[in-house]
Amino acid sequence: MTAVTSAMTQTQAPATGEALYDRIRDIVRNDLSPLTVKIDREGFYPADVLRTLGAAGAFSQHLPSQNGRGEYDLSAALKVMDIVSQECMSTGFMIWAQDVACWYVEMSDNEYLKENLLPLLASGEALGGTALSNPMKYMAGIEPLHLSAEETDDAYIVNGKLPWISNLGEGHWFGSIFKVAGDDSRDVMAMVNTSWEGLEMKQLATFSGMEGTGTYALHFDNVRVPKTHVVGDPLMPYLKKMKAGFILLQTGMATGLIDGCIQLCEEVEPRLSHVNCYLDDRPDEMREELEDARDAIAELCSTPFNQDPEYIRTVLEARLLGSELCLRAANSAMQHTGANGYLVEAPAQRKLREAYFVAIVTPAIKHLRKELDAMAGC
Ligand SMILES: Cc1cc2nc3c(=O)[nH]c(=O)nc-3n(C[C@H](O)[C@H](O)[C@H](O)COP(=O)(O)OP(=O)(O)OC[C@H]3O[C@@H](n4cnc5c(N)ncnc54)[C@H](O)[C@@H]3O)c2cc1C
Repeated sequence: MTAVTSAMTQTQAPATGEALYDRIRDIVRNDLSPLTVKIDREGFYPADVLRTLGAAGAFSQHLPSQNGRGEYDLSAALKVMDIVSQECMSTGFMIWAQDVACWYVEMSDNEYLKENLLPLLASGEALGGTALSNPMKYMAGIEPLHLSAEETDDAYIVNGKLPWISNLGEGHWFGSIFKVAGDDSRDVMAMVNTSWEGLEMKQLATFSGMEGTGTYALHFDNVRVPKTHVVGDPLMPYLKKMKAGFILLQTGMATGLIDGCIQLCEEVEPRLSHVNCYLDDRPDEMREELEDARDAIAELCSTPFNQDPEYIRTVLEARLLGSELCLRAANSAMQHTGANGYLVEAPAQRKLREAYFVAIVTPAIKHLRKELDAMAGC
């Protein structure tokens, strides 16, 4: 069993504000951009880039216990994800996966994980993600929960299969929810390590995009999850507390992707504006919509624990808008860049495939519309 043994020794606090964003832009330019095509076409998993981003403070901005400012700065976390996603949304998605793995611990009452695991995840020393697609669909009445567990005195013995979990490798961490059998039947959430006995990572699929995201099927065969690693029990109040942050944090990949698409359209203006002016979703129009969306998201980020249904509805709508704008912006980039955008290594066609990921990753467009529909009926 891989145990959490040591916390990161306290180092100098990473940069904040514009200094942080400049540092992230440097990492994107120098470390990430030479790898973007390899990540997309060869499924290369950029672990070193993720660690470099983590050391720069990319994963700690939304964590008051880790960012040195004591505040939930979701906007800064999103800005980092946005900058990275403009170049490579696969990496932007892994930032989200890492951000929410941290969020799960930060939102819990588990002092052991806060002390021992969170500093490692927040600094990128340990990597990880989230297995919450299935539970979120379960909560929304879309499918059953795939993991079940037997409770012992000090652990849960977990069995079941999950099809696709990202930002994984040997010794990585992820948040997972399982149904506990017995008289005290209930759902429990815990942090799980991929190296624990009985847990197998299987690469069963090849995706048309997002191939470099370290995405695996997980097969649990009597995996012992110690109670020391529980983050949510009782689950519902915990999920309620962290849900808005979980969803809002996804919007950084959307805004970055949209910005990247607009930049592609803008780049060809000097050469093609005489004919591109006949297209829909011109770059200036898309930029106006993007800036409006960024402002609306920033406003929502200032109160992530608001339990008012109207607030939750607006968060879901913002996430939906992000997906819809991604699809429009990527379609626009394809048409604005023409045949050059259709080349196999062209950013426009890569961004089109990334945009569809924003639309299908949980909560997918259809899932969001189902939840919004249910809220409208209340
Ligand atoms: C590249 C990639 C990375 C992902 N990373 C994560 C992650 O890190 N964490 C996470 O929790 N989820 C992850 N997912 C899952 C994702 O969030 C969605 O759940 C998934 O895309 C399906 O969503 P949907 O609502 O469109 O369901 P639908 O496509 O409508 O499918 C309905 C259900 O059937 C299941 N299903 C469909 N096809 C298969 C199959 N071939 N094998 C097994 N089950 C299947 C789906 O999982 C889903 O539960 C990832 C998916 C992809 C493609």
